[in-house]
Amino acid sequence: MIHTSIDLDRPGKQQGFLQVPYSHDLGGWANVMVPITVIARGSGPTVLCLGGNHGDEYQGQVAIMRLARETTPEQVSGRLILVPSLNMPAAKAAKRLSPLDGMNMNRAFPGSPEGPVTSQIAHYLKTVLLPKSDVVIDIHSGGRSMEFLPCSHMHLVADRAQRTRMLAAMLAWNTDVSFLYADIAGSGLLPVEAENQGKIVVTTELGGGEGISAHVHRIAQRGLRNVLVHCGVLAGREETREGLGLAPARLVQALAREDYILAPESGIFEVAIDLGAPVDRGDTVGWIHHLERPDREPERIAAASAGTLVCMRAPCLTSQGDCVAVIAREVSRDEVLRA
Ligand code: CA
Repeated sequence: MIHTSIDLDRPGKQQGFLQVPYSHDLGGWANVMVPITVIARGSGPTVLCLGGNHGDEYQGQVAIMRLARETTPEQVSGRLILVPSLNMPAAKAAKRLSPLDGMNMNRAFPGSPEGPVTSQIAHYLKTVLLPKSDVVIDIHSGGRSMEFLPCSHMHLVADRAQRTRMLAAMLAWNTDVSFLYADIAGSGLLPVEAENQGKIVVTTELGGGEGISAHVHRIAQRGLRNVLVHCGVLAGREETREGLGLAPARLVQALAREDYILAPESGIFEVAIDLGAPVDRGDTVGWIHHLERPDREPERIAAASAGTLVCMRAPCLTSQGDCVAVIAREVSRDEVLRA
């Protein structure tokens, strides 16, 4: 049901929209307009760059808007498909989920052509954009709910050749930390759909919270460009951490459920340690304070595993079951490739 004026197979630079039918009280024949830029020239890989899968994560949206404006066809070998704000209604509302249908784009796959707006976009990705792509880059951050140590990340996919290429592409982001993560909260994720189609999938968690500092914007923009150079779709010389005078990236993984700490009750979360700090099993990660009963001792949150604090809850106000911390342990590249 999605219409676009873009011809995905035409060389040159095109700017347009994915138009999703959406009828509402003041717009009987209205469309949701999702901006898309396609820049193609000659032979080479097709790389799909996505921002705003969660609407309140603007790092990738800014990086992809810049890339779309600044890139000319002469700099491209192959094809770049750029969608800065995939969940456009959510991005406009500074929300993680779409305000139109309450759906999480990153739980909406495989989607349906007859479903709500979010489901239709997911289905279009699954059936049109993903099959045309060799590499899929989906830029996330913690949004308003979480704050991450800025990192590129990936799933430990079963296929060894795919995993090896994903690891190399992930490391090309040149973040200090790269993170192997597990899905503890549901299915229907965009990266999983792309992985199942055999794509090289590069994802990130670049900070979080409502404010984005300049250095995080730089990590987003410089990392994205470097991954595109690494893939061979964008002209330029690939930067390495060594070439930049930096220590090798630290690889960390959180694959067990206990690495993702959930609030045992509601209250005000106070974190006890800084992002990036080492944690031992049993250490205090934070406390939950009781607004209505300040005389009660706060609930201590203890680490169930050892490693590094890679993510913390961003807002202090916390509900029972919210994720308040993620602890990841260091792994070697060999361990990642052999696991
Ligand atoms: Ca996200």
